[in-house]
Amino acid sequence: MNNLEMRKIPQTEQILNDPRASVWNEKISRQLTAAAVRSAVDHCREGIKNGESFDEDALYSNISILCTRLYNRRIRPVINASGVILHTNMGRSPIEQEVWDACEDINTGYSSLELSLKTGKRGKRNGLVPFFINTLTGAESCAVVNNNAAAVHLLLNTFAAGKEVIVSRGEQVQIGGGFRIPEILELSGARLVEVGTTNITTVDDYLNAVTEDTAMILKVHRSNFAIRGFTSEPSVRELSEVLPDDIILAVDQGSGVLNEKLKGEDRVRTLITDGADIVTFSGDKVLGGPQAGVLAGRREMIIKLDKNPLIRTMRPGKTIYSLLETSLLQRLNSPNAWSRHAEVIDSCEAVKDKCRKLKRGISAEKYKLISDKICIGGGSTPDQFFESWSIEIISEHLKAQMIIDLLRQAETPIIGTIRGDSAAINPAVFTDDELKYVKSVLKDLEEKL
Ligand SMILES: *Cc1c(COP(=O)(O)O)cnc(C)c1O
Repeated sequence: MNNLEMRKIPQTEQILNDPRASVWNEKISRQLTAAAVRSAVDHCREGIKNGESFDEDALYSNISILCTRLYNRRIRPVINASGVILHTNMGRSPIEQEVWDACEDINTGYSSLELSLKTGKRGKRNGLVPFFINTLTGAESCAVVNNNAAAVHLLLNTFAAGKEVIVSRGEQVQIGGGFRIPEILELSGARLVEVGTTNITTVDDYLNAVTEDTAMILKVHRSNFAIRGFTSEPSVRELSEVLPDDIILAVDQGSGVLNEKLKGEDRVRTLITDGADIVTFSGDKVLGGPQAGVLAGRREMIIKLDKNPLIRTMRPGKTIYSLLETSLLQRLNSPNAWSRHAEVIDSCEAVKDKCRKLKRGISAEKYKLISDKICIGGGSTPDQFFESWSIEIISEHLKAQMIIDLLRQAETPIIGTIRGDSAAINPAVFTDDELKYVKSVLKDLEEKL
């Protein structure tokens, strides 16, 4: 009897050619659809072994469930309603549309990425990027790699392999997943010399630790936490004034702040003027560009970095270079502005307006305007919050986390946040279209609340 039922299961090939399965080819490839089909068929066989009869609809619906689950794992656009403007899990800074458009031809066609149009021979792979960075930061020269973690690794490997690097105990940081200063140091072949305490490190702590093996003092920006209360550390200027000339003073600045809008963040330019020999930062934090790591500083040092074979393993391609060049041009032409996204910290009233628009036409009892605070995130100004407004979602039936989960499962996932005991939506970075869409999702959600 079982055998009879088993024979009813169509051949894999036949299932794959059925439109109910083949619709997935285009979305997840024929290979992955085939894997889902085999898994659904196995499940079907198990069922029959256990005495069930063959159910064609159940088979195809299982295939569809498996394929949908896979399809949903692709990288998808989401709506950032979290109140964290540059969220590493959401791709940090979005590339602005004009920047993206300006780079289209370079990326979809051939380009002069590493070709000298003057000589027709191999040229330098960086266009105007170094000129722009030097102009923006006051550095003599710079190098670009794929991200800031790579920049720090390259820096340490080039100048401190087999030597000592002095780092304050207050700066032994871990930034996001997997970037730990002590580990990067070890990987680079450098020896870590810890000085000071978590809250206090003095100039003398640094100076007393200097030996003939010391290559560098590395200062690391505390990107994702703050130390408050009884704290003190020497400034870059204080250190540079007393440090022997042959010891490199390097700063992992991280966020790439270029103007004075962010109080309490050291601008890259200030660090260089104050005597840092080299400063590293990310391209996709407040700079608003693509993921990249920049090393800006003294010319002789950049020449040495360029000669380290390791740099070849961190070399960005045309996508990064073209986007970075265009983003930097934009920053140069509006020195007080940032990317549209970082600017929302200045626009508390505009965010309130967005909240009001969102609320219009949906339940006033369930969606409440609340004053809120947002932060830049992505490893900048850890201690700074900016006044803003959000919509609090009030529910009798659903816990806050369940509402957050439901919003995340929307057609275009909405990434909300929890405020107190409630789910909340911060619309600071919403576009008009996103606002309309979120409103429609909230409207549909109303009856479940
Ligand atoms: C963000 C950050 C990093 C890591 O930068 P990536 O570009 O993500 O590699 C390293 N150091 C500091 C201080 C940072 O803020």
